[in-house]
Amino acid sequence: MISVENARQLILKNALPLQPILMPLVQSLGLALAKDVPSPSDYPLYDVSAMDGYALKASDLRGASKAKPVTLKVQGTQHAGDFLKTRLQTGGCFKVMTGGVIPSGADSVLERELVVEKDGRAEFYQPLVKGRNIRYRGESIRKGDLALKAGSLLHSRAIGFLASLGIEKAWVIPAPRVALLVTGNELVRPGRKLKPGQIHNSNQWMLETALREQGLNPARSVSVPDHPGKLKSETRKALDTCDLVLLVGGVSVGDSDFSKPILKSLAVQKVFWRVAQKPGFPLYFGKKGKTLIFGLPGNPASAWVNFYEYVVPCLRTLQGLPTGRVRQTARLVSEGPHRSFKTLFLKARLKSGSDPQVVLLKGQGSHILQSLAGGDSLAVVPPGKGKLKKGEILEVHPLSEGRMP
Ligand code: AMP
Ligand code: MG
Repeated sequence: MISVENARQLILKNALPLQPILMPLVQSLGLALAKDVPSPSDYPLYDVSAMDGYALKASDLRGASKAKPVTLKVQGTQHAGDFLKTRLQTGGCFKVMTGGVIPSGADSVLERELVVEKDGRAEFYQPLVKGRNIRYRGESIRKGDLALKAGSLLHSRAIGFLASLGIEKAWVIPAPRVALLVTGNELVRPGRKLKPGQIHNSNQWMLETALREQGLNPARSVSVPDHPGKLKSETRKALDTCDLVLLVGGVSVGDSDFSKPILKSLAVQKVFWRVAQKPGFPLYFGKKGKTLIFGLPGNPASAWVNFYEYVVPCLRTLQGLPTGRVRQTARLVSEGPHRSFKTLFLKARLKSGSDPQVVLLKGQGSHILQSLAGGDSLAVVPPGKGKLKKGEILEVHPLSEGRMP
């Protein structure tokens, strides 16, 4: 048996970012960049107009006023996407749309609303400062400069930015292939009728969707009976094809707990088994080559808490992402249970504010999901002695849904 902290460290020590691959940018949502990306071009690529208006030479409007307008000949129109070869002539201007390239010779744009155009001539009633409404070439980034550094998360904003530089593919750390194997003779798919003694299989859907909340679709997801032969062949397939295997149930000391001996027979090297915590004491972690294996206890709250506390940081590390955990503290609103030699992860509800408070929920049993479903956080009680007192400050882990930042 090891401590929670020790378990965390051992997992992170064994989780190394996966081999980078070159991937279409549009498919790389949620992944980390494996290499620095230099900009292949200046951005903007041209001097362009920031407004619909008239491109001209600022010096031509010197002294313009309502009483003494300046009139310039409209030489042509420049839409976004046009590239005129004509130069601005003395006494001329160009009508230009937002994103239109500034014709050579022009140095400023006056907004259309401030100009009156009639019979091919535009009238201006005010002077302007040179450079008004112009977005200059290379103003945002210059060719060769660092666009995004290795390790950056490719969210939609980052993908948009790289796309604006014309980048189609990027070296990324791929999504890990994850296998989910839930075990138990008693398990029946929700929606199906139960025979006496059977229960509905909640872990499979819960952990499939927990993976999806992390942006990952399981590569395999199967429910296997407590049959050593079947369990062994499914586990072998998972080990052969995946980066991370979640074996759920059968990891304790019962007569039908086959997970550990099967992993051993498949040459999986045990890193640890059993963590001083509640729920989730029988947690197992091992590796075979580069494949990592978690044995999660089958009690649903244990399985979910272990997934959240250990599997998520591990998956993020495999993806080259920071573990990104939000850690905060809150004041306990009531008395709590006795401390013990185990770390307690208590299902809770957080009231944020200037003095955050945490409410412990009814139903702390490792078989009870109701309090996890209705709660929003885990209150963490480190090992110790004595009853938890009202007003004590506890570490709280918010159970943010979806991918963590
Ligand atoms: P185990 O870890 O296999 O000893 O299972 C511990 C408890 O969790 C038992 O009461 C099982 O019936 C229950 N359990 C195991 N797997 C699941 C599952 N997939 N869905 C719901 N309950 C489960
Ligand atoms: Mg079982």
